[in-house]
Amino acid sequence: MEHGRVIISVENLVKNYGNFEAVKGISFDVYENEIFGLLGPNGAGKSTTLEIIETLRPKTGGKILVNGIDLDRDPQEIKKIIGVQLQTSGYYPNLTLLELINLFAGLYNRNVNAMELLDTVNLRDKAKSKVKELSGGQKQRFSIATTLINEPKIIFLDEPTTGLDPQARRNLWDLVKQIRSRGTTVIITTHYMDEAEFLCDRVAIVDSGKIVALNTPDRLIDELVATGFERPKEVKKANLEDVFIHLTGKSLRED
Ligand code: ADP
Ligand code: MG
Repeated sequence: MEHGRVIISVENLVKNYGNFEAVKGISFDVYENEIFGLLGPNGAGKSTTLEIIETLRPKTGGKILVNGIDLDRDPQEIKKIIGVQLQTSGYYPNLTLLELINLFAGLYNRNVNAMELLDTVNLRDKAKSKVKELSGGQKQRFSIATTLINEPKIIFLDEPTTGLDPQARRNLWDLVKQIRSRGTTVIITTHYMDEAEFLCDRVAIVDSGKIVALNTPDRLIDELVATGFERPKEVKKANLEDVFIHLTGKSLRED
């Protein structure tokens, strides 16, 4: 497959919490401008892995390069080129979205057009609102907007669609694709396999701190089929989610 250069290289990453091995020597590369998915059950070590790459958590062992920068040597340089989603609960409760973006821009020492940024995530109408006044999907979109303030090369999204309704989830997929189309590399975790299949160029499946598979969704499916696996025949041409979307519309309802 055609792919860009390696923008994140993880080699033999180990993370122990006390004597518990959460990440057991995983290695993978992320290519520039791809959407790379980390999939796996709760407790697999996905967030730990992301937070180590984000320089937010110390590792026990292994080597990580982000855009050629060695995490052990220059974490500050890595911070400058990545965008990390913050928990929206951590935002100053009395500031408006516009004020928050300007505050973060100040912290990053960046000039941003806050309105334009809110427009990107479809929140222009909410510029004067506070975070607590937003719906779940709007909060997620705002939190994604904050990752874009420093015009990062790479953004990290840890379960950005968990808890969202089907429309809000699809709306976020469009946003992630749109961000990638501007040249940004995206690393995302999700528990929704339809989402991973739709969004991700490649996925790594992590289980108990180890990567058990890494490939394009298409190839992983082909590999499974090649083993003789056959899904029980689908008797219906639609599922309940199709019914839901059909009845309530594809458009976003929260606005
Ligand atoms: P995931 O994001 O895949 O659900 P995590 O990376 O959050 O998994 O957690 C991996 C494992 O490490 C889990 O068993 C979790 O309980 C444990 N763990 C995560 N953070 C800590 C911590 N700060 N201290 C101790 N154990 C932790
Ligand atoms: Mg997690």
